[in-house]
Amino acid sequence: MSKAVTNSSAANTTTADILIIGAGIIGVCCARTLQLNGHRVTLLDREGIGAACSHGNAGVLCSWSFDPAAKPGLWKELPRWLADPLGPIALRPSHLPKMLGWLWQFIRNTQSNRQAKSAAALFTLNNPTVEMFRQLLQGSGHESLVQDAFYLFATRNGKRLNLNQLPWQRRLQAGATVEAIDAATLGEIEPHLSKEYVKAILVHGQGRVTNPGRLVKVIGDKVLSSGGRFIQTAVHELIPRTGGAVTVSTQNGSIEAKQVVVASGAWSSRLTAKLDLNIPLQAERGYHMEFANPGVQLNNSVNDVDRAFVASSMAGGLRCAGTSEFTELEAAPNWRRADIMKRLGKAMLPGLNVDEGTPWMGLRPALPDSVPIIGPAGHHPGIFLAFGHGHYGLSGAPMTARIIGALIGAERMNIDISAYSVERFT
Ligand SMILES: Cc1cc2nc3c(=O)[nH]c(=O)nc-3n(C[C@H](O)[C@H](O)[C@H](O)COP(=O)(O)OP(=O)(O)OC[C@H]3O[C@@H](n4cnc5c(N)ncnc54)[C@H](O)[C@@H]3O)c2cc1C
Repeated sequence: MSKAVTNSSAANTTTADILIIGAGIIGVCCARTLQLNGHRVTLLDREGIGAACSHGNAGVLCSWSFDPAAKPGLWKELPRWLADPLGPIALRPSHLPKMLGWLWQFIRNTQSNRQAKSAAALFTLNNPTVEMFRQLLQGSGHESLVQDAFYLFATRNGKRLNLNQLPWQRRLQAGATVEAIDAATLGEIEPHLSKEYVKAILVHGQGRVTNPGRLVKVIGDKVLSSGGRFIQTAVHELIPRTGGAVTVSTQNGSIEAKQVVVASGAWSSRLTAKLDLNIPLQAERGYHMEFANPGVQLNNSVNDVDRAFVASSMAGGLRCAGTSEFTELEAAPNWRRADIMKRLGKAMLPGLNVDEGTPWMGLRPALPDSVPIIGPAGHHPGIFLAFGHGHYGLSGAPMTARIIGALIGAERMNIDISAYSVERFT
């Protein structure tokens, strides 16, 4: 019997101190951090540990990427991208009416003052990622899952990329070491890349994860081997009780928790629907294709700026990941969007063997300002929210967990956490 959860006398009811709903990278980092802070934790997921979006991402630990998706001038590119059925962004027409409000807020967030605020909030989350993951993995025997790496942004059109552009200026102001390199230098760093790339920007001081799914499982295992508990079941509803406790209704009965952390990724707003909160969360699908026998190797994460995807050598092969597709949560995957990674991967790495490709689809939890919600759920003192990390959830997970840990422990932090508050949408 675990220390964290005990069967209560009532049939079909268990109790938990802190229940974390969702065992993706956000959930496991929250569980482990809370445990290290001395709490008894229970992780809950209907699928298993690390089964959803956190399994298939591109593995970039983006210490120096903190650009919100709503970029000034994005609207100039949008019509071209949307017109191309296999372009980097797709919106299923039937879904458009359901996301008009989100789109409106997204467009408002292209304003430079809002952009700058979101970028600062993302920087706080993402910048310490490599060091924080190293701490979480310490003593696990799996420390090599996190590697130091460059992040390379490469283009075939030299005009498309220069250090005077806003994202690069922001990085430089924040203290990043970035340098523009020519084709010859790029070829020395990544010999298998296509010679069509004429220019790249190299970001120093980044990290990469060689198996993102494994990373979630290793941290989850540490939670379990340290006295935490995992329950595999689907949560239907959160019922706040007077005094702060929460009844969590699941497919297998109820759980009475002193506190609950909602880390349920793209599905989170379903669980918060009855809490009188306004949360404009959309599922932004991404796809990858992982080539098991690639025949070529990358030493770093490489972002193809022209085609908006990222490639990285992983433990299981070479992974090409990207694309944004907005549609209903449960709509069937459009595997053609994963298939385009064969063409894009081959164009990036002419020697790539695309014969043994495994497709994957995952749902990024996307908020219109790209900043996750981290903090209490309005007037419900026992419920904490930790979701909406969009394109940067792997990178932002350890710091998200630290904030949740500080809030639950009523500790002061020397960072401004108001930027993550759910109240910004009310
Ligand atoms: C193609 C792609 C590439 C990416 N590349 C990067 C990258 O390089 N770097 C980076 O930082 N980020 C990247 N991301 C983003 C990152 O993967 C996500 O932001 C992150 O995985 C979100 O983690 P999560 O824990 O919030 O959600 P998830 O991993 O989706 O976990 C949520 C969990 O909640 C569970 N759940 C939901 N509802 C319920 C319920 N009612 N009951 C029980 N369980 C429930 C689900 O089963 C799931 O396991 C990428 C994303 C994609 C799609």
